[in-house]
Amino acid sequence: MYDKEDMLPKATFFVYPWDIHDEGIGLALKNIQGCGIDGLELAVSYHIGTYVLPRNPKRFAYSGNHGALYFQPDRALYSKTSIEPVVADVVEGPDYLTQILGAARENGMKTTAWVVYCYNHQLARNVKAGKVNVFGDPDHGQLCVANTDVREYCTALTKDVVDNYSFDGIFVESLDYMPFGYGFLNPKVAVRFPTEVSLLLGLCFCEYCQQAASRQGVDVDRFMSGLQEWIREYCRKLPDMIPSPEMVAVQIQEVFGEELAAYLKARRETATSLLENNISLARQVGKHVAIGGIVESDPRVTGIDVQRTRQLFDRVFITVPQDPTREILRAKIEKAKDNLAPSTEIYALVSPSLFDSEQSFGETLYLLKGDGVDRFGFYNYGILTERHLHWIANTCHLWR
Ligand SMILES: [Zn+2]
Repeated sequence: MYDKEDMLPKATFFVYPWDIHDEGIGLALKNIQGCGIDGLELAVSYHIGTYVLPRNPKRFAYSGNHGALYFQPDRALYSKTSIEPVVADVVEGPDYLTQILGAARENGMKTTAWVVYCYNHQLARNVKAGKVNVFGDPDHGQLCVANTDVREYCTALTKDVVDNYSFDGIFVESLDYMPFGYGFLNPKVAVRFPTEVSLLLGLCFCEYCQQAASRQGVDVDRFMSGLQEWIREYCRKLPDMIPSPEMVAVQIQEVFGEELAAYLKARRETATSLLENNISLARQVGKHVAIGGIVESDPRVTGIDVQRTRQLFDRVFITVPQDPTREILRAKIEKAKDNLAPSTEIYALVSPSLFDSEQSFGETLYLLKGDGVDRFGFYNYGILTERHLHWIANTCHLWR
């Protein structure tokens, strides 16, 4: 067992490796530590993005990879999956990651591998391992956690990161089912769906998900054709002939209640077991485990059994929204505590860019500290301005 005080950072920056390399590792770490930050959540597997980098000396508007690794993988580990890991074009050599880790360690910083698993346009598009909706349309951003190649790929990725690199911990992202519409590119969508309809649209019906549901006794063909018909009929009435969201939820329960519950149960086992397995790989080699959105998301969407996983996390990040009131923050903290073991450290994930002034930023951090959250993660180093960094530096007495 590790000593929590020794291993867990008090405040961390989410960082992209290219921002550290572009600025120069030494200077970047000095600037980060100058903000009073003692930890890095360093992206090692990351999703699609376009970035405006106001302080980066080498690039300003950066069109990133569509889903790639920021290290050179140990390819032998991926022999059980047909999914070939893709390495980002900025990775210049085998030392790309170890150089940052070595310098961070020399400077007394804690490091966490920020690993994005199944949100990956590059892979979902090319390897036919993406989610498939009830109409049979493949998703181009989300890999399906039921797919055996995806499961082997995720397992290999975890092993690669925790066995081959000296991180203190791992931050797990998108190792679950994701919501309908997450990852749409330049969406052209003229319809809005309430929560319950989005849930149906977000269900995966790939062959693996169908098999898992069949084992739960679901007549999948009948369920799918029923859903297709119901959703088509719902869309015919949009936007002004539909019942209230509450009534829609009741209707869905009446028509699909039993099959839907069984389908969700199968997904719950699929997603939760994958998360558990990967966390145990990290634990076996002494890494701590951090996670973000799961405690704030609808478990029917993610497939994660929150009660079953509540003991598994050392650190959990709750997202601080724009201009939050004390009540909103308290509700978020309470919900997180309800879903977590008492030993889990709650971190506030704060995006300085959501605030208009240093004053409103600082007031929010004071509110959080007043309600018992005095560990922070800031999002994220490369996209913030110098003023944002000053704001963080000026509040660091709250956690130091
Ligand atoms: Zn699936």
